[in-house]
Amino acid sequence: MVQDVPKTAPSRMPSRMPSPILAVVFDLDGTLLSTEALIINVARTVLDLHGTQLTEEALKASIGKPPLEAWQSTMDVLGLTSEQTTAAELYRRSEDILEDLWHEATYLPGAVRLLHHLRAHDGLKIGLATSTPRAVLAKKTKNKPLLQDCFDAVVCGDDEDLRGRGKPDPACFLKVCRQMDVDPGACVVIEDAPSGLVAAVHAGCHCIYVPSIPNDATLEGDEAHASRITRLTTLLEFDPAPFGLDAFGDGIEGTVPFGLNADSVIRIRGQVVTGFGRGSKTLGIPTANVETMAVSKVLPGAATGIFFGWASLACFPGEVYATALSIGWNPFFKNEEKTCEPWLLHDFGDTDFTGTTIALVVVGWIRGEANFESMDALIARIREDGEVTKRALADPRLCAYREDEFLRHGCE
Ligand code: ADP
Ligand code: MG
Repeated sequence: MVQDVPKTAPSRMPSRMPSPILAVVFDLDGTLLSTEALIINVARTVLDLHGTQLTEEALKASIGKPPLEAWQSTMDVLGLTSEQTTAAELYRRSEDILEDLWHEATYLPGAVRLLHHLRAHDGLKIGLATSTPRAVLAKKTKNKPLLQDCFDAVVCGDDEDLRGRGKPDPACFLKVCRQMDVDPGACVVIEDAPSGLVAAVHAGCHCIYVPSIPNDATLEGDEAHASRITRLTTLLEFDPAPFGLDAFGDGIEGTVPFGLNADSVIRIRGQVVTGFGRGSKTLGIPTANVETMAVSKVLPGAATGIFFGWASLACFPGEVYATALSIGWNPFFKNEEKTCEPWLLHDFGDTDFTGTTIALVVVGWIRGEANFESMDALIARIREDGEVTKRALADPRLCAYREDEFLRHGCE
Protein backbone atom coordinates (compact mmCIF):
# COMPACT_ATOMS: atom_id res chain seq x y z
CA MET A 1 0.00 0.00 0.00
CA VAL A 2 1.39 3.37 -1.00
CA GLN A 3 0.42 6.50 0.84
CA ASP A 4 0.73 10.03 -0.47
CA VAL A 5 0.58 11.25 3.07
CA PRO A 6 0.70 8.66 5.83
CA LYS A 7 -2.48 8.52 7.74
CA THR A 8 -3.78 7.03 10.92
CA ALA A 9 -6.73 5.05 9.71
CA PRO A 10 -8.87 5.34 6.63
CA SER A 11 -11.71 7.78 7.07
CA ARG A 12 -14.98 5.98 7.55
CA MET A 13 -18.31 7.61 7.22
CA PRO A 14 -21.28 5.35 7.96
CA SER A 15 -23.51 4.89 4.93
CA ARG A 16 -26.59 5.88 6.92
CA MET A 17 -27.43 6.56 10.54
CA PRO A 18 -29.99 4.21 12.10
CA SER A 19 -31.99 7.09 13.59
CA PRO A 20 -32.22 10.78 12.76
CA ILE A 21 -29.72 13.13 14.33
CA LEU A 22 -31.31 15.87 16.42
CA ALA A 23 -28.23 17.53 17.88
CA VAL A 24 -24.53 18.09 17.25
CA VAL A 25 -22.25 18.77 20.22
CA PHE A 26 -18.80 20.26 19.78
CA ASP A 27 -15.67 20.17 21.83
CA LEU A 28 -13.81 23.50 21.64
CA ASP A 29 -9.99 23.33 21.74
CA GLY A 30 -8.51 21.33 18.91
CA THR A 31 -11.95 20.76 17.38
CA LEU A 32 -13.31 24.23 16.60
CA LEU A 33 -10.40 26.37 17.76
CA SER A 34 -6.67 26.01 17.44
CA THR A 35 -4.49 27.37 20.19
CA GLU A 36 -1.31 25.81 18.83
CA ALA A 37 0.01 28.76 16.84
CA LEU A 38 -0.82 31.01 19.77
CA ILE A 39 1.09 28.84 22.21
CA ILE A 40 4.13 28.74 19.90
CA ASN A 41 4.18 32.52 19.67
CA VAL A 42 3.94 32.84 23.44
CA ALA A 43 6.76 30.29 23.84
CA ARG A 44 8.88 32.58 21.66
CA THR A 45 8.15 35.57 23.88
CA VAL A 46 8.92 33.62 27.05
CA LEU A 47 12.24 32.37 25.65
CA ASP A 48 13.10 35.90 24.54
CA LEU A 49 12.78 36.95 28.16
CA HIS A 50 15.43 34.32 28.95
CA GLY A 51 17.66 35.64 26.19
CA THR A 52 17.25 32.60 23.98
CA GLN A 53 15.33 31.76 20.82
CA LEU A 54 12.93 29.00 19.90
CA THR A 55 14.53 26.86 17.21
CA GLU A 56 13.00 24.52 14.67
CA GLU A 57 14.61 21.60 16.51
CA ALA A 58 13.16 22.66 19.87
CA LEU A 59 9.76 23.07 18.31
CA LYS A 60 9.88 19.59 16.80
CA ALA A 61 10.87 18.12 20.17
CA SER A 62 7.94 19.71 21.98
CA ILE A 63 5.00 19.58 19.55
CA GLY A 64 2.17 17.36 20.74
CA LYS A 65 3.43 16.99 24.33
CA PRO A 66 1.64 18.14 27.49
CA PRO A 67 2.85 21.63 28.55
CA LEU A 68 5.39 20.71 31.24
CA GLU A 69 6.96 17.96 29.15
CA ALA A 70 7.03 20.25 26.13
CA TRP A 71 8.84 22.93 28.12
CA GLN A 72 11.34 20.38 29.46
CA SER A 73 12.08 19.19 25.92
CA THR A 74 12.51 22.78 24.78
CA MET A 75 14.95 23.41 27.65
CA ASP A 76 16.91 20.25 26.82
CA VAL A 77 17.22 21.09 23.14
CA LEU A 78 18.16 24.72 23.79
CA GLY A 79 20.61 23.75 26.54
CA LEU A 80 18.84 25.73 29.25
CA THR A 81 19.96 24.44 32.65
CA SER A 82 17.96 24.11 35.85
CA GLU A 83 20.07 26.93 37.30
CA GLN A 84 18.74 29.24 34.63
CA THR A 85 15.07 28.28 34.81
CA THR A 86 12.68 25.35 35.20
CA ALA A 87 9.94 23.92 32.99
CA ALA A 88 7.41 24.89 35.66
CA GLU A 89 8.64 28.48 35.67
CA LEU A 90 8.49 28.71 31.86
CA TYR A 91 5.01 27.21 31.88
CA ARG A 92 3.79 29.68 34.51
CA ARG A 93 5.15 32.62 32.54
CA SER A 94 3.55 31.43 29.33
CA GLU A 95 0.19 30.96 31.07
CA ASP A 96 0.43 34.52 32.41
CA ILE A 97 0.88 35.87 28.90
CA LEU A 98 -1.75 33.57 27.38
CA GLU A 99 -4.29 34.87 29.87
CA ASP A 100 -4.69 38.02 27.76
CA LEU A 101 -4.29 36.38 24.37
CA TRP A 102 -6.91 33.63 24.30
CA HIS A 103 -9.05 35.61 21.86
CA GLU A 104 -6.30 35.18 19.27
CA ALA A 105 -7.08 31.45 18.98
CA THR A 106 -8.12 30.77 15.40
CA TYR A 107 -10.79 28.53 13.90
CA LEU A 108 -9.70 25.16 12.58
CA PRO A 109 -10.20 24.67 8.83
CA GLY A 110 -13.80 23.64 8.18
CA ALA A 111 -15.13 24.79 11.58
CA VAL A 112 -16.87 28.00 10.53
CA ARG A 113 -18.31 26.37 7.42
CA LEU A 114 -19.73 23.50 9.45
CA LEU A 115 -21.21 25.72 12.17
CA HIS A 116 -22.94 27.93 9.58
CA HIS A 117 -24.22 24.86 7.78
CA LEU A 118 -25.65 23.25 10.92
CA ARG A 119 -27.20 26.49 12.07
CA ALA A 120 -29.14 26.75 8.84
CA HIS A 121 -30.63 23.30 9.47
CA ASP A 122 -34.17 23.62 10.80
CA GLY A 123 -34.74 22.11 14.21
CA LEU A 124 -31.19 20.86 14.73
CA LYS A 125 -29.74 21.71 18.14
CA ILE A 126 -26.07 22.66 18.54
CA GLY A 127 -24.23 22.27 21.84
CA LEU A 128 -20.78 22.92 23.27
CA ALA A 129 -19.14 20.67 25.87
CA THR A 130 -15.73 22.01 26.75
CA SER A 131 -13.22 21.43 29.57
CA THR A 132 -12.40 25.14 29.39
CA PRO A 133 -13.51 27.08 32.47
CA ARG A 134 -16.37 29.49 31.72
CA ALA A 135 -14.24 32.59 32.30
CA VAL A 136 -11.62 31.40 29.81
CA LEU A 137 -14.35 30.47 27.32
CA ALA A 138 -15.52 34.09 27.47
CA LYS A 139 -11.98 35.21 26.60
CA LYS A 140 -11.60 32.73 23.77
CA THR A 141 -14.91 33.74 22.19
CA LYS A 142 -14.60 37.48 22.89
CA ASN A 143 -14.04 38.36 19.22
CA LYS A 144 -15.99 35.44 17.74
CA PRO A 145 -19.69 36.32 17.49
CA LEU A 146 -20.45 32.99 15.82
CA LEU A 147 -19.30 31.09 18.93
CA GLN A 148 -21.19 33.48 21.19
CA ASP A 149 -24.59 32.85 19.70
CA CYS A 150 -24.68 29.55 17.86
CA PHE A 151 -25.08 27.15 20.78
CA ASP A 152 -28.37 26.03 22.30
CA ALA A 153 -26.49 24.76 25.38
CA VAL A 154 -22.97 25.25 26.72
CA VAL A 155 -21.36 23.19 29.48
CA CYS A 156 -17.94 24.06 30.88
CA GLY A 157 -15.24 22.15 32.74
CA ASP A 158 -15.76 24.17 35.92
CA ASP A 159 -19.56 23.75 36.10
CA GLU A 160 -20.33 22.91 39.73
CA ASP A 161 -21.98 19.55 38.91
CA LEU A 162 -19.10 18.49 36.67
CA ARG A 163 -16.28 19.04 39.16
CA GLY A 164 -14.00 16.01 39.21
CA ARG A 165 -15.95 14.49 36.34
CA GLY A 166 -13.97 15.75 33.35
CA LYS A 167 -13.69 13.77 30.10
CA PRO A 168 -13.38 10.74 29.72
CA ASP A 169 -16.29 10.81 32.19
CA PRO A 170 -19.43 11.07 30.02
CA ALA A 171 -21.05 13.55 32.45
CA CYS A 172 -20.54 16.69 30.31
CA PHE A 173 -22.16 15.11 27.25
CA LEU A 174 -25.07 13.72 29.25
CA LYS A 175 -25.58 17.17 30.75
CA VAL A 176 -25.53 19.02 27.43
CA CYS A 177 -27.99 16.48 25.95
CA ARG A 178 -30.29 16.99 28.93
CA GLN A 179 -30.13 20.75 28.51
CA MET A 180 -31.05 20.44 24.83
CA ASP A 181 -33.71 17.84 25.64
CA VAL A 182 -32.21 15.39 23.16
CA ASP A 183 -31.57 11.70 23.69
CA PRO A 184 -27.78 10.95 23.60
CA GLY A 185 -28.48 8.35 20.91
CA ALA A 186 -29.74 11.13 18.63
CA CYS A 187 -26.67 13.27 19.26
CA VAL A 188 -23.37 13.46 17.37
CA VAL A 189 -20.34 14.66 19.32
CA ILE A 190 -17.40 16.12 17.40
CA GLU A 191 -14.13 15.62 19.27
CA ASP A 192 -10.37 15.76 18.71
CA ALA A 193 -9.09 14.24 21.96
CA PRO A 194 -8.97 10.54 22.97
CA SER A 195 -10.61 11.33 26.33
CA GLY A 196 -13.42 13.17 24.54
CA LEU A 197 -14.04 10.26 22.18
CA VAL A 198 -14.30 7.84 25.11
CA ALA A 199 -16.61 10.21 27.00
CA ALA A 200 -18.88 10.63 23.98
CA VAL A 201 -19.38 6.95 23.21
CA HIS A 202 -19.84 6.11 26.90
CA ALA A 203 -22.56 8.78 27.00
CA GLY A 204 -24.28 6.83 24.21
CA CYS A 205 -23.66 9.47 21.56
CA HIS A 206 -22.28 8.99 18.08
CA CYS A 207 -18.80 10.49 17.77
CA ILE A 208 -17.06 12.10 14.84
CA TYR A 209 -13.44 11.79 15.87
CA VAL A 210 -10.98 14.19 14.25
CA PRO A 211 -7.81 13.46 16.23
CA SER A 212 -5.33 16.28 16.85
CA ILE A 213 -2.68 13.70 17.58
CA PRO A 214 -1.35 11.98 14.48
CA ASN A 215 -1.76 8.21 14.34
CA ASP A 216 -4.06 8.05 17.31
CA ALA A 217 -5.79 4.68 17.57
CA THR A 218 -8.05 5.23 20.59
CA LEU A 219 -10.94 2.71 20.57
CA GLU A 220 -9.74 1.37 17.24
CA GLY A 221 -10.79 -2.26 17.03
CA ASP A 222 -13.35 -1.70 19.82
CA GLU A 223 -16.21 -3.72 18.33
CA ALA A 224 -18.76 -2.60 20.90
CA HIS A 225 -18.54 1.05 19.89
CA ALA A 226 -17.32 0.84 16.30
CA SER A 227 -20.71 1.57 14.74
CA ARG A 228 -20.94 4.83 16.65
CA ILE A 229 -17.50 6.19 15.70
CA THR A 230 -16.65 8.05 12.50
CA ARG A 231 -12.96 8.89 12.04
CA LEU A 232 -11.97 11.88 9.96
CA THR A 233 -8.60 13.51 9.36
CA THR A 234 -10.06 17.03 9.22
CA LEU A 235 -13.46 18.68 9.64
CA LEU A 236 -13.23 19.54 5.94
CA GLU A 237 -13.86 15.87 5.26
CA PHE A 238 -17.23 15.86 7.02
CA ASP A 239 -20.08 14.59 4.85
CA PRO A 240 -23.50 15.61 6.23
CA ALA A 241 -25.47 13.08 4.15
CA PRO A 242 -25.10 9.94 6.34
CA PHE A 243 -26.41 11.98 9.27
CA GLY A 244 -29.53 12.96 7.38
CA LEU A 245 -28.27 16.53 7.05
CA ASP A 246 -28.25 18.66 3.87
CA ALA A 247 -25.19 18.55 1.62
CA PHE A 248 -22.88 21.58 1.55
CA GLY A 249 -23.64 23.86 -1.36
CA ASP A 250 -20.35 25.73 -1.64
CA GLY A 251 -18.11 23.37 -3.65
CA ILE A 252 -16.02 24.53 -6.61
CA GLU A 253 -14.96 21.70 -8.93
CA GLY A 254 -15.42 19.26 -6.06
CA THR A 255 -13.14 21.26 -3.72
CA VAL A 256 -13.93 23.13 -0.52
CA PRO A 257 -13.01 26.75 -1.24
CA PHE A 258 -11.68 29.09 1.46
CA GLY A 259 -11.99 32.84 1.66
CA LEU A 260 -15.45 33.10 0.14
CA ASN A 261 -17.92 32.96 3.04
CA ALA A 262 -16.71 30.69 5.78
CA ASP A 263 -13.09 29.61 6.28
CA SER A 264 -10.31 32.09 5.64
CA VAL A 265 -7.53 31.52 3.15
CA ILE A 266 -4.28 30.32 4.73
CA ARG A 267 -1.11 32.34 4.13
CA ILE A 268 2.24 30.60 4.58
CA ARG A 269 5.66 32.16 4.03
CA GLY A 270 8.87 30.24 4.64
CA GLN A 271 12.07 28.83 3.28
CA VAL A 272 12.19 25.97 0.82
CA VAL A 273 14.20 23.26 2.57
CA THR A 274 15.62 19.94 1.41
CA GLY A 275 12.96 17.25 1.44
CA PHE A 276 13.21 13.49 1.50
CA GLY A 277 14.29 13.03 -2.09
CA ARG A 278 11.14 11.18 -3.02
CA GLY A 279 9.28 13.85 -5.03
CA SER A 280 11.10 13.97 -8.33
CA LYS A 281 12.96 10.69 -7.98
CA THR A 282 10.19 8.34 -6.93
CA LEU A 283 7.14 10.04 -8.32
CA GLY A 284 8.40 12.28 -11.10
CA ILE A 285 6.59 15.11 -9.37
CA PRO A 286 8.86 17.64 -7.63
CA THR A 287 7.56 19.10 -4.37
CA ALA A 288 9.29 21.97 -2.58
CA ASN A 289 9.29 21.29 1.16
CA VAL A 290 8.47 24.33 3.30
CA GLU A 291 10.21 24.68 6.70
CA THR A 292 8.15 23.29 9.60
CA MET A 293 8.27 26.47 11.68
CA ALA A 294 6.58 28.53 8.96
CA VAL A 295 3.77 26.01 8.64
CA SER A 296 3.11 25.32 12.32
CA LYS A 297 2.81 29.06 12.95
CA VAL A 298 -0.30 29.26 10.83
CA LEU A 299 -1.70 25.74 10.52
CA PRO A 300 -2.85 23.63 13.42
CA GLY A 301 -1.75 20.02 13.65
CA ALA A 302 -5.07 18.60 12.62
CA ALA A 303 -5.19 20.43 9.32
CA THR A 304 -4.02 17.85 6.85
CA GLY A 305 -4.81 16.79 3.33
CA ILE A 306 -4.36 17.96 -0.23
CA PHE A 307 -4.89 21.69 -0.62
CA PHE A 308 -4.41 24.14 -3.49
CA GLY A 309 -3.72 27.78 -4.10
CA TRP A 310 -1.21 30.26 -5.45
CA ALA A 311 2.55 30.40 -4.83
CA SER A 312 5.35 32.83 -5.53
CA LEU A 313 9.12 32.49 -5.12
CA ALA A 314 11.52 35.21 -4.00
CA CYS A 315 13.92 34.12 -6.75
CA PHE A 316 11.32 34.75 -9.48
CA PRO A 317 9.73 38.04 -8.41
CA GLY A 318 6.47 38.97 -10.06
CA GLU A 319 5.57 35.40 -11.05
CA VAL A 320 2.64 33.57 -9.45
CA TYR A 321 2.08 29.84 -9.91
CA ALA A 322 -0.96 27.61 -9.53
CA THR A 323 0.00 25.08 -6.84
CA ALA A 324 -1.28 21.81 -5.40
CA LEU A 325 0.09 21.05 -1.94
CA SER A 326 0.01 18.18 0.46
CA ILE A 327 0.12 18.86 4.17
CA GLY A 328 0.54 15.99 6.59
CA TRP A 329 2.69 13.87 8.85
CA ASN A 330 5.77 12.11 7.63
CA PRO A 331 6.95 8.76 9.00
CA PHE A 332 10.52 9.83 8.33
CA PHE A 333 10.42 11.70 11.66
CA LYS A 334 8.29 9.08 13.38
CA ASN A 335 5.22 11.18 12.64
CA GLU A 336 6.47 14.04 14.72
CA GLU A 337 7.03 16.38 11.85
CA LYS A 338 4.34 17.75 9.69
CA THR A 339 5.42 18.48 6.14
CA CYS A 340 4.03 20.98 3.70
CA GLU A 341 4.95 20.11 0.13
CA PRO A 342 3.81 22.39 -2.68
CA TRP A 343 3.94 21.16 -6.25
CA LEU A 344 4.10 24.27 -8.41
CA LEU A 345 2.26 23.57 -11.66
CA HIS A 346 5.02 25.00 -13.81
CA ASP A 347 8.01 23.49 -15.57
CA PHE A 348 11.16 24.91 -13.97
CA GLY A 349 13.45 22.55 -15.87
CA ASP A 350 16.41 21.71 -13.67
CA THR A 351 16.09 24.80 -11.52
CA ASP A 352 16.54 24.04 -7.85
CA PHE A 353 15.08 26.72 -5.64
CA THR A 354 15.95 25.20 -2.29
CA GLY A 355 16.85 28.01 0.12
CA THR A 356 14.62 30.63 -1.47
CA THR A 357 11.52 32.03 0.20
CA ILE A 358 8.17 30.72 -0.94
CA ALA A 359 4.85 32.46 -0.25
CA LEU A 360 1.63 30.46 -0.43
CA VAL A 361 -1.98 31.58 -0.39
CA VAL A 362 -3.98 28.40 0.17
CA VAL A 363 -7.49 28.93 -1.22
CA GLY A 364 -9.07 25.52 -0.82
CA TRP A 365 -9.02 21.86 0.07
CA ILE A 366 -9.20 19.03 -2.44
CA ARG A 367 -9.31 15.82 -0.41
CA GLY A 368 -8.13 14.06 2.71
CA GLU A 369 -5.08 11.87 2.91
CA ALA A 370 -5.58 8.59 1.13
CA ASN A 371 -4.10 5.16 0.66
CA PHE A 372 -3.21 3.82 -2.75
CA GLU A 373 -2.85 0.28 -4.03
CA SER A 374 0.12 1.12 -6.23
CA MET A 375 2.64 3.80 -7.03
CA ASP A 376 0.94 4.32 -10.40
CA ALA A 377 -2.40 4.91 -8.71
CA LEU A 378 -0.75 7.45 -6.39
CA ILE A 379 0.91 9.28 -9.29
CA ALA A 380 -2.36 9.30 -11.26
CA ARG A 381 -4.16 10.77 -8.26
CA ILE A 382 -1.56 13.50 -7.74
CA ARG A 383 -1.78 14.42 -11.42
CA GLU A 384 -5.56 14.57 -11.07
CA ASP A 385 -5.11 16.85 -8.02
CA GLY A 386 -3.09 19.10 -10.34
CA GLU A 387 -5.95 19.18 -12.87
CA VAL A 388 -8.53 19.87 -10.16
CA THR A 389 -6.28 22.71 -8.92
CA LYS A 390 -6.19 24.31 -12.38
CA ARG A 391 -9.94 24.00 -12.88
CA ALA A 392 -10.84 25.34 -9.43
CA LEU A 393 -8.38 28.24 -9.69
CA ALA A 394 -10.05 29.26 -12.97
CA ASP A 395 -13.10 30.26 -10.92
CA PRO A 396 -12.93 34.08 -10.80
CA ARG A 397 -13.45 34.11 -7.02
CA LEU A 398 -10.35 31.96 -6.46
CA CYS A 399 -8.42 33.43 -9.39
CA ALA A 400 -8.66 36.80 -7.62
CA TYR A 401 -6.24 35.59 -4.92
CA ARG A 402 -3.52 35.54 -7.56
CA GLU A 403 -3.23 39.27 -6.88
CA ASP A 404 -2.95 38.80 -3.10
CA GLU A 405 -0.43 41.25 -1.58
CA PHE A 406 1.07 38.38 0.42
CA LEU A 407 2.49 36.88 -2.79
CA ARG A 408 4.72 39.92 -3.39
CA HIS A 409 8.27 39.44 -2.29
CA GLY A 410 10.87 42.08 -1.73
CA CYS A 411 9.48 43.91 1.24
CA GLU A 412 10.58 41.27 3.77
P1 ADP B 1 12.44 16.33 -2.16
O1 ADP B 1 11.67 15.07 -2.29
O2 ADP B 1 13.74 16.22 -1.52
O3 ADP B 1 11.57 17.43 -1.68
P2 ADP B 1 12.01 16.79 -4.88
O4 ADP B 1 12.52 15.73 -5.75
O5 ADP B 1 10.57 16.79 -4.51
O6 ADP B 1 12.86 16.73 -3.58
O7 ADP B 1 12.43 18.16 -5.48
C1 ADP B 1 12.06 19.33 -4.84
C2 ADP B 1 12.82 20.49 -5.41
O8 ADP B 1 12.63 20.57 -6.81
C3 ADP B 1 12.30 21.79 -4.86
O9 ADP B 1 12.92 22.14 -3.65
C4 ADP B 1 12.60 22.75 -5.98
O10 ADP B 1 13.89 23.30 -5.75
C5 ADP B 1 12.65 21.90 -7.23
N1 ADP B 1 11.51 22.05 -8.14
C6 ADP B 1 11.62 22.11 -9.49
N2 ADP B 1 10.43 22.26 -10.07
C7 ADP B 1 9.51 22.26 -9.09
C8 ADP B 1 8.08 22.39 -9.09
N3 ADP B 1 7.37 22.52 -10.22
N4 ADP B 1 7.44 22.37 -7.89
C9 ADP B 1 8.13 22.22 -6.75
N5 ADP B 1 9.47 22.10 -6.69
C10 ADP B 1 10.19 22.13 -7.85
MG1 MG C 1 9.66 17.24 -2.06
